[in-house]
Amino acid sequence: MGASAVADVADVAERFREQYGAEPEGVWAAPGRVNLIGEHTDYNDGFVMPFALPHTTIAAVSRRTDGVLRLHSADVEGGAVELTLDSLAPESDRHWTAYPAGVVWALREVGHTAITGADVHLASTVPTGAGLSSSAALEVVVALALNDLYELGLRGWQLARLCQRAENVYVGAPTGIMDQTASACCEAGHALFLDTRDLSQRQIPFDLAAEGMRLLVVDTRVKHAHSDGEYGKRRAGCEKGAALLGVDALRDVPYDGLDAALARLGDEEEVRRLVRHIVTENERVERVVSLLQAGDTRAIGPVLVEGHASLRDDFRISCPELDLVVDTALGAGAVGARMTGGGFGGSAIVLIEAADEETVTKAVEEAFATAGFTAPRVFAAVPAAGARRLM
Ligand code: ADP
Ligand code: MG
Repeated sequence: MGASAVADVADVAERFREQYGAEPEGVWAAPGRVNLIGEHTDYNDGFVMPFALPHTTIAAVSRRTDGVLRLHSADVEGGAVELTLDSLAPESDRHWTAYPAGVVWALREVGHTAITGADVHLASTVPTGAGLSSSAALEVVVALALNDLYELGLRGWQLARLCQRAENVYVGAPTGIMDQTASACCEAGHALFLDTRDLSQRQIPFDLAAEGMRLLVVDTRVKHAHSDGEYGKRRAGCEKGAALLGVDALRDVPYDGLDAALARLGDEEEVRRLVRHIVTENERVERVVSLLQAGDTRAIGPVLVEGHASLRDDFRISCPELDLVVDTALGAGAVGARMTGGGFGGSAIVLIEAADEETVTKAVEEAFATAGFTAPRVFAAVPAAGARRLM
């Protein structure tokens, strides 16, 4: 992972030449993402609202005709890993190569057997494991490259679906559709309002700079070990809630029917909390959409704070580091703040007036030092472009 947000295209192409001894046929980029609002709603058929980061994973790629896939990442020690397409099988690979190999597998599995191999060299500026979706950036950039080179004619949302399948089935990580769709479909200066039930999407203007505002991403640098199991538990709890309420997904519980739904859940306290978060979170996404469309960016601040409280108290996936970011930032004058991503670590987002950037950043860094936490990584995020061809 490089220091700057944007990896150097020429450098990636040069490394490809060094690795494989020929020019790449093309170079593509796919970004990481931050979710503005709509957390854990994506496996409940609900709403999410991510935007793309300027941080991207870049891939230089060429086709092969001999059924071989060669993968190399500048961010991983060692030489290229060579796989044969016929040997690709779900959950057969516990390394990073499972993400790009899974994409090739998923494409071929739905019938794109015209894919006869590839040489891939990757380099990324997306922090890994920070909840900013380096995994989706990696999948999407490979999918887009193969889509272009093999002229598969797939749209962004279709590539996103195949990438999700790669991660769920091939890698074996149960994730929703948000990350891949964000990486594939976001547009600069916008957040993506995505309905995860039918995958319909709308680009919502989110031009912070024009309003004298900034959005800070604070990577806490922690990932608490139990996070995968806890994700599974939340997911199962939401499914139980939907079953008890007789709906396909919690998305179908209307906001104005929440009290009645909670009453029906009786003494299922754990499930009640999960249901309350999902139903109120969907409503918060809709509120943020309305506010941004009305040009009232500052007014989304309190909605973000409500979202954090719901994740902390009802969904219970925050952690001391994330809470400290939010509390400290708000105390230092931030307009809004919340944890973002799966929880138990990863990153928080902080909405501020541009003039407050230094004050708020310092306050958070000092609070972490005082608490004895690892120093956080803080950067300002500009809503950037989704996956694209660079060369
Ligand atoms: P996140 O998506 O939040 O960054 P994940 O655990 O879902 O975290 O995905 C991170 C994993 O994706 C890494 O451990 C690695 O296996 C793989 N990965 C991401 N980016 C790269 C890269 N540039 N090179 C090699 N592997 C990568
Ligand atoms: Mg991921």
